Amino acid sequence: MLRRDAFALPDGVIYLDGNSLGPLPRTARAAVDKALCAEWGEMLIRGWNEAGWMDQPDRLGDRIAPLIGADAGTVTLGDTLSVRVFQGLAAALSLRPERKVILSEESNFPSDLYIAQGLIRALGQEHELRVVPASDLTAALNEEVAVLMLTEVDYRSGARHDMAALTARAHAVGALALWDLAHSAGALPVNLTGTGADFAAGCTYKYLNGGPGAPAFFYARPDHAEAVQPILAGWLGHAAPFDFAPEYTPGPGRNRFRIGTPPVLQMAALGAALDLFDGVDLAALHARAVALADRLAAGFQTACPELRRLTPGPAQHRGSQIAFAHPQGYAMVQALIAQGVIGDFRAPDILRFGIAPLYLDETDIDAAIWRFEQVIRDRLWDDPAYRTRNKVT
Ligand SMILES: *Cc1c(COP(=O)(O)O)cnc(C)c1O
Repeated sequence: MLRRDAFALPDGVIYLDGNSLGPLPRTARAAVDKALCAEWGEMLIRGWNEAGWMDQPDRLGDRIAPLIGADAGTVTLGDTLSVRVFQGLAAALSLRPERKVILSEESNFPSDLYIAQGLIRALGQEHELRVVPASDLTAALNEEVAVLMLTEVDYRSGARHDMAALTARAHAVGALALWDLAHSAGALPVNLTGTGADFAAGCTYKYLNGGPGAPAFFYARPDHAEAVQPILAGWLGHAAPFDFAPEYTPGPGRNRFRIGTPPVLQMAALGAALDLFDGVDLAALHARAVALADRLAAGFQTACPELRRLTPGPAQHRGSQIAFAHPQGYAMVQALIAQGVIGDFRAPDILRFGIAPLYLDETDIDAAIWRFEQVIRDRLWDDPAYRTRNKVT
């Protein structure tokens, strides 16, 4: 499964941040160039028909579908994950009008929580965002809950929820489940159809390597997709956009979740990135990631026993990243980056490393360990330059 040559990784860099922004697939350059010059440049507006730009969200949605255990025809693409979380939440609340609680966990990604808070204000119907620790979720799922909104894999610790069990529990109390797959898609097998998840969304610029600003995907269970009246009702979600009718009539199924113009150039890059998942066994990919992450953890914790591991051990309880806490975490990550090992830092004290076996193997992990040993041994982290934080950490 190692396809390192398919990625344009700079020499000497060990890239452990594909959980934030996947690297550039070499073929993306030609794909974007074609969309830019042969399509936009030559076809101009005819590209919408002649180059099939208008159907890209469907075509790419159908390529993402098998990666997340969804059927063809159920996944659409466009906008950002934050917007898609809004859309999924609004859809879920509209299907449970008598219930007022959005249940989530306090460590969920801030955008997901902010989006819920904003939606609640916009609706003005006294909904409540209830956040509990992960361990209390099952107990907190009761008949007040309209929708359980969770990120399957925690963006900081890498801990993974049991999607099947929590979705089943939500359904047992009459609630719906909305899953954020930001750290799942392209990292591990997801089974949306099998778990009966109601809605799901994710980004394509993390493990799927679609590039900065790549569009989000959105899934609605087919029965909901035919029932929901979208709140973000845009012209391209209309049943007949080019009738330009003054009243909104939702398009069939997933089409109604389209909003506005799709990002054509980004989708060209994403198409090239998805080619690299052809024939990849996601269960095997995840098993490799877990083994490589444990190798890294063993080496890092030997070099620095004060690193407190945050990622659980058993494979089914974790994603494809490994995280540690340390009071000097920020400075250590900066010193590692200066050594060519790119990971990232998450407040307040978390060192985070994404492990993507499409372009990483034992050689990279061992080199990262060796450089980390240097950072610790020579106190390279203890540098005034690393005491102020950059805007993007
Ligand atoms: C990365 C991430 C996002 C990012 O949302 P954007 O709208 O694409 O910026 C949202 N939720 C989670 C859980 C994430 O990890």
